[in-house]
Amino acid sequence: MRILIVEDERLLAETVKTLLESRGFTAETACDGESGLAYGELGIYDLIILDVMLPGLDGRQVVRRLREKRCGTPVLMLTARSGLEDRVEGLNAGADYYLAKPFDARELLACVNALLRRQGGQVDELRMGNTSLDLAAGTLSCGEAQVRLSAKEFGVMRQLMQSGARHVSKESLLEKVWGYDSNAVENHVEVYVGFLRKKLRSIGSDLRIEAVRRLGYHLEVDGE
Ligand code: CA
Repeated sequence: MRILIVEDERLLAETVKTLLESRGFTAETACDGESGLAYGELGIYDLIILDVMLPGLDGRQVVRRLREKRCGTPVLMLTARSGLEDRVEGLNAGADYYLAKPFDARELLACVNALLRRQGGQVDELRMGNTSLDLAAGTLSCGEAQVRLSAKEFGVMRQLMQSGARHVSKESLLEKVWGYDSNAVENHVEVYVGFLRKKLRSIGSDLRIEAVRRLGYHLEVDGE
């Protein structure tokens, strides 16, 4: 899932990008209305997160032009202004949802997931054995027992659950969870797999993370 963030406040744009990437999304940023429109028109994104107050074209103009060009990508609008008038104007311009700043991470992820689900294809949780991974909340649960995962733990667990019994190499985990430009090494992966094993045990999960030399990791369900 590929998400475009159009936001001129660099720090906020980077924070949202990091948050989305920690949940397994691919995220790119544009810092003004013109480039946001140009990227959005490419039609390669599954969702556009669009700030209203932008230099040049504002968010409402951007979404209006996207809709005029028959671009149906869902748009989540962000604004510091939470007045009813602004929300109505934004929705009339073609936005699908409105989120007022400041918002918290879970609120944003819930909106993103809801909009993507409407598009189809987005799942809320991954299940294997007696265990499920909540993709919006970042929690791992087994019956009533639940444990919150850190961003990196979540990233590793998500990759493992998506791959099921197939092996996931340490290099691939490093690339997908830590990113190309990080200084992380394979030892980091081993450390986080250790954390995950403890957390899986702590909730009574029947999943085991098996390591196979040179191939990497895969999940097994106890007793199967
Ligand atoms: Ca702004």
